[in-house]
Amino acid sequence: MTGNERVKVTIRCRMCGEKFVLRGRRDKGKIDTGFKQCICNNDRDFEIENHDM
Ligand SMILES: [Zn+2]
Repeated sequence: MTGNERVKVTIRCRMCGEKFVLRGRRDKGKIDTGFKQCICNNDRDFEIENHDM
C-alpha cells in the first residue's frame, strides 16, 4: 500500500451554500485538499463528500 489515494471532494458551505469541487489526497485516513475557507470566510462549517477517483 502506498498510503496515498486520490479522491474527489465536494465541499458545501453550510453558511452560504456555495459548493466547491476539489481534488485531494487521502493520507492515513485524512483528506488533504488544500482547501482553506469559503468565500464567505467560513472555515469550519462544511458538509464534505468524497468520492474515490
Ligand atoms: Zn460560504
